[in-house]
Amino acid sequence: MRQTYDLQKESLMSHPVPSAVPRSIPAPVRRGDPGFLGRPEMAEVADGVFAYVQPDGGWCLNNAGLIVSGHRAALVDTAATEARARALRTAVLSLTPTVPQVLINSHSHGDHTFGNFVFPEALVVGHERTRAEVTATGLHLTGLWPDVEWGALEIVPPALTFRDRLTLHIGDKVAEIMHLGIAHTTNDSVIWLPEERVLFTGDVVMNGVTPFCPMGSVAGSLDALAAMRALRPEIVVPGHGPVGRADLFDETEGYLRLLRSLARQGVAEGIDPVSLARQTDLGPYGRWLDAERLVPNLFRAYAEEQGEARGSHVDMGEMFRRMVEYHGGVPTCHA
Ligand SMILES: [Zn+2]
Repeated sequence: MRQTYDLQKESLMSHPVPSAVPRSIPAPVRRGDPGFLGRPEMAEVADGVFAYVQPDGGWCLNNAGLIVSGHRAALVDTAATEARARALRTAVLSLTPTVPQVLINSHSHGDHTFGNFVFPEALVVGHERTRAEVTATGLHLTGLWPDVEWGALEIVPPALTFRDRLTLHIGDKVAEIMHLGIAHTTNDSVIWLPEERVLFTGDVVMNGVTPFCPMGSVAGSLDALAAMRALRPEIVVPGHGPVGRADLFDETEGYLRLLRSLARQGVAEGIDPVSLARQTDLGPYGRWLDAERLVPNLFRAYAEEQGEARGSHVDMGEMFRRMVEYHGGVPTCHA
């Protein structure tokens, strides 16, 4: 971890750039590289702004972020297992003189929040429904993959909550934490650094990984994408997959629009979502990780097509079972 940072720092020192200009997108680790799945990378994407990327970005292999200014630091999200969260802590402490004082949760899902307890010094901040969901769902996610070594997890929900937005000052850096409506879940926040033009999207955007919105909304995800696009970020740190740029919005939008037209057709022709998924060729989106998410995504798209409210309650257990049926087994989780 330290090595990655030092190497990058050296090359940056020989090519100084103004601090407000985003520096670089780290080269993505390629699938098939030795140790690919077990090798998270911390990379500086702008002055004092880091992305922590856990390849390959599939189920429960999420990204985190770190914002450092002077002796102040804020963390964006954690990791799914105790071991992964502790590895994140080690990576963070190799970069900052102090432990992060603030930890922002982009949403309630366990891959982003289970590691909160590994940062007891930090005030955990999140949307008010993030707190409610973290508290209500507890360790439910661990039951979907009982073979994963989750470690001795303790649930720590956000202690400071907000409804619409919050401005966080980290030394001389400013982070706008914004709820852009129901999208990937009912409680997503994006973290926007206007000076550095870096956007942490949480799971509303992924890179090379299939979007997942059964708990949120297809229409809401499209609205959130429009709002994020309007920010004109130069660096986009997705919730899963490699760091990218604003074209990630276009790719995500393309998938969501396909989803919506499929659901329109499915509802009109009276085909159930699993059957429709079986006869669908996803084209380029079929190469994304976790393509089986088509089934739960279609369930949500169908519900919206039939007038169901965004983020309305769904039986996730049932949806997961239908996805497993379509996939021919429980999808692999490398957490
Ligand atoms: Zn998520």
